[in-house]
Amino acid sequence: MTAGRLDIVGLGPGPADWATPEVLAIVEQASDLVGYGPYLQRLPVQPMQRQHASGNRVELERAREALDLALEGRRVALVSSGDPGIFAMAATVFEVIEADAARWRAVEIAVHPGVSAMLAAAARLGAPLGHDFAVMSLSDNLKPWPIVERRLTAAAEADFVMVFYNPASKARPQQIQAALALLRKLRPAGTVVALARAVGHPGEHITLTTLGAADASAVDMNTLVLVGSSATRSIPRGDGRQWIYTPRRYGAST
Ligand code: SAH
Repeated sequence: MTAGRLDIVGLGPGPADWATPEVLAIVEQASDLVGYGPYLQRLPVQPMQRQHASGNRVELERAREALDLALEGRRVALVSSGDPGIFAMAATVFEVIEADAARWRAVEIAVHPGVSAMLAAAARLGAPLGHDFAVMSLSDNLKPWPIVERRLTAAAEADFVMVFYNPASKARPQQIQAALALLRKLRPAGTVVALARAVGHPGEHITLTTLGAADASAVDMNTLVLVGSSATRSIPRGDGRQWIYTPRRYGAST
């Protein structure tokens, strides 16, 4: 039996036109789609195509299932949201392969880039990622909270713009509260904070606020949180709202 292939793709953070043409073609041609149920629901079902939906806590099993299907000769697309390499399935697949490298050797594997949520959120806000930034997941499902604290402290002290994925969920509303409390000790109260919720989806909501005033209870698992550096500033838009941006020129503001 000839092994098939596994394409690891991300659909972008929102509407279909934020998925790349490459990814849409791969998804269309796949014999099997594997992924978290709500992501698969965003895709049209092709005749003869099989969908293998799973819950959002079973990443290792899902990666193994995708690899097994590919080993059987199927043409598998493993679907994440955003970019598949950012807090998503690509790393999980390599973790599974590393544990049993010989088993999967015959499977052809490719990772395809996608638009990550931070890129969509930054575009809505203006250009907050115009200069150096640090990206973190606040979820402690897969890492201990003291590591989150250490990295938050280092990024704040180094004056990076910060982006937080997985800032809160129903099961862990306290993460973003603790993160903001820590940052308030290290950064001025007037630091720009943006809460970008469901960017590209019907419930999209962007809140511009400050570190002193940011309301952690407005943050849920569909939100991306951005904290500015000392250089990040806002400028008025024609419609009364504001853009935020971080100048590219070092020293332009400080
Ligand atoms: N691989 C994905 C990230 C998966 S982690 C990517 O590259 O975008 C899931 C987290 O991403 C969510 O908790 C949220 O913080 C963020 N996220 C994903 N889609 C989003 C969207 N449309 N708007 C705001 N945040 C989003």
